[in-house]
Amino acid sequence: MALLIKGGEIVTAESRFHADILVEGETISAVGTGLEQPPECQVVDATGKLVFPGFIDPHVHVHLPFMATFAKDTHATASRAALIGGTTTFIEMVCPSRNEDALAGYHTWKQKAEGNSACDYAFHMGVTRFDASTESQLREIVADGTASFKIFLAYKSFFGVDDAEMFQTLSLASKLGVITTAHCENAELVSRLQQGLLAQGKTSPEWHEPSRPESVEAEGTGRFATFLQQTGAAGYVVHLSCAPALRAAVDAKLRGVRLFVESVLPHFLLDKSYAERGGLEAMKYIMSPPLRDRRNAPVLWDALQAALIDTVGTDHCPFDTEQKLLGDGDFTRIPNGIPGIEDRVTLMWTYGVKRGLLDIHRFVDALSTRPARIFGLAPRKGVIAVGADADLVVYDPHYRGTLSARSQHVNNDYNGFEGFSVEGRPSVVTVRGSIQVRDGAFVGDKNRGRMLRRDPQYFREAAHAR
Ligand SMILES: [Zn+2]
Repeated sequence: MALLIKGGEIVTAESRFHADILVEGETISAVGTGLEQPPECQVVDATGKLVFPGFIDPHVHVHLPFMATFAKDTHATASRAALIGGTTTFIEMVCPSRNEDALAGYHTWKQKAEGNSACDYAFHMGVTRFDASTESQLREIVADGTASFKIFLAYKSFFGVDDAEMFQTLSLASKLGVITTAHCENAELVSRLQQGLLAQGKTSPEWHEPSRPESVEAEGTGRFATFLQQTGAAGYVVHLSCAPALRAAVDAKLRGVRLFVESVLPHFLLDKSYAERGGLEAMKYIMSPPLRDRRNAPVLWDALQAALIDTVGTDHCPFDTEQKLLGDGDFTRIPNGIPGIEDRVTLMWTYGVKRGLLDIHRFVDALSTRPARIFGLAPRKGVIAVGADADLVVYDPHYRGTLSARSQHVNNDYNGFEGFSVEGRPSVVTVRGSIQVRDGAFVGDKNRGRMLRRDPQYFREAAHAR
């Protein structure tokens, strides 16, 4: 059955206008005013509402064995929470441990997701070791349509790669035309600083930030950029959190390094005082890179508006309070992470666009269009255009609400943004033409999501056209 979205105000990365959208099958077949309604057509009245392209979260963890436990979501819970919040596609990190083969890890993650997601999804392939068998396995994974890698410069001896492995990964990525995303912190310095603090009896959560200071992230960012420059690879810094790391990234961009920058939701809205509240309340806010001194957030907002920060993700990674307590008495054992997949769109709208910190088109660009382009999902995703997938968010700007763990859909017993008020929410959300959400409730097909296969050649062209 066709779908007609009537009378809404369409907002894309480039333009804003009133028009109807006709969907036939899974794609958009017409955009224009006064479109004729075909027989057998579902109609959504979008009068007084905004219509955005479906939002894309480029940095999500669903299945994740980490720090002696597993993140709480399943693909079923994470994908429904994503959709209720207006995110129609997410890219999940495949994170095998260093003693697991890349290919075995990849199949584990694929199997967990397949048939269990309500929204579309793709993967970044975590390269957590590089040995004699790694290259052929990565080539097979790229040929399967997973055209981006993830490396950790942090988490020594668990996920982390050393400089030699980073060089090998980036050299292969450069040959294959694959982009590499990187967690940039100096693992050796973090490890030494952690040991030093613990030896002084500094074991509580507020010591997490001083164990991985801003300069340690800036070092990782600068080193990653230098390796990109020397290998000719394209790269993407995930969850950049502070001004010194931003300066390292911008310096690399100005040298012509093909480097993109992502910051994530918590670093725009929270600061390290949340992790200094003591006890469990503090543990809820332990993530890496850590929440920073509050002087950083205005710098991140300005850089986002100026597109020096390209994208906004979440690093969605829910551990519940029982799991957080694994680190009681030793901050290095607190599972790192915070949920966010459900609230990214409404929070960035409320605290960015509505406060005048973020232009409405840059909002769409950073949360949808640019992630699609960088990761080879365009032109299917990230736009409202004839032929594109009909992933659409009809947004009701008049809604008012308050975020709370009691009403969230993410599988976790706390919400890091508890009590934050929000303006607006998705009223109707579609995935390839099928209505999945109405006014905060999941109403669709819980198995609709498909894995999106991406072509590395596409990224090459997109990078050169930029
Ligand atoms: Zn992450």
